[in-house]
Amino acid sequence: MKNVSIAIDGPSGAGKSTLARALAKKKGYLYIDTGAIYRTVGCYVRRCGVDPADEAAVLRLLPQAKVELRRGEDETQRMFLNGEDVSEEIRLPEVSKYASVVSAHPEVRAYLLEMQRELARNHSVVMDGRDIGTVVLPDADVKIFLTASVETRAKRRYLELSERGTPEALDQVRSEIVQRDWDDSHRAAAPLRQAEGAVAVDTTTLNFQESLAALSRVVEEALK
Ligand code: C5P
Repeated sequence: MKNVSIAIDGPSGAGKSTLARALAKKKGYLYIDTGAIYRTVGCYVRRCGVDPADEAAVLRLLPQAKVELRRGEDETQRMFLNGEDVSEEIRLPEVSKYASVVSAHPEVRAYLLEMQRELARNHSVVMDGRDIGTVVLPDADVKIFLTASVETRAKRRYLELSERGTPEALDQVRSEIVQRDWDDSHRAAAPLRQAEGAVAVDTTTLNFQESLAALSRVVEEALK
């Protein structure tokens, strides 16, 4: 049977990862968080003390960074960098900034493209990111563009960071989100935008269950 691919794109804090993971579980597909791949590269660049904006220097580092996705006991995606589990470290706000800066380099994106496509060739997937429907899987069976207002996304990220034990002030979280939105949607390489044929789902006023139900409806309709 042909593998099915569901592409979910959108800005940070729209609920992509939580919803994509739940959707994958419901469908029995593999969940792939592509942001974690960029974060792992960002983490390596940070550890090496290299300026993430220096594309040539970042490119020189890439062959030394073995980035792997592995499944944890509870089927969660764990990220490994040269054999070390960096799944927690890549969530630090500082690493978010590195991820955003390194991901703007076209050659970094090209380097990571095949890894993402191969996963979708070998499995039925729910893949989330910024350019899945536009670049990585333009022929995905279902494309969803997930959004929510800046205020809602900032509050969600704020709670997530607090729960994780790395709290930040709400104002700080909000301004980082606005900055990343701008960076992600104004970069020349694979900017964040709604893919052709993608269905937009706005989760501003929806709770988790309502958002999941809205996504499931879009998926079932598209796969009919
Ligand atoms: O989704 P997440 O916030 O974990 O992504 C971290 C960063 O990686 C984003 O700010 C974005 O710049 C970048 N990214 C990307 N393309 C993807 C996924 C993430 O450029 N497909």
